Amino acid sequence: MNQIPRIALIAHDGKKPEMVSFVLQQRSLFEKAALYATGTTGSYIEKAGIKVEKMLSGPKGGDAQIASMVATGQLDLVFFFRDPLAKHPHEPDVQMLMRLCDVHNVPLATNPAGARLMLVGVEELKS
Ligand code: PGA
Repeated sequence: MNQIPRIALIAHDGKKPEMVSFVLQQRSLFEKAALYATGTTGSYIEKAGIKVEKMLSGPKGGDAQIASMVATGQLDLVFFFRDPLAKHPHEPDVQMLMRLCDVHNVPLATNPAGARLMLVGVEELKS
């Protein structure tokens, strides 16, 4: 993992509040990381006072941009809070992103409980 962890944050609409509270709960870690997010998720995170580089909105290609970063080794962790109870016009991009995380062995958490456990692992790697 990079000295400064490079982290992607993506949340479907129904999960954006959970993403913001997750990021705020782990504020000290996220403030020291290089953060990238899909457009709308990124706006929420910025409003919470945390600096993040915003990609396009997910349905307009933001997930694909994050997927491309995964494929080219530019990300260390992906937090993608999916909403399994909603339909998404960009489902093919969602699948592509998750597939590329598996292809390139990039840690991916798709819900807050998994995300919290992943961060425990990050702390352990540091020590
Ligand atoms: P958004 O995209 O952050 O622009 O809403 C997330 C997504 O739906 O993949």
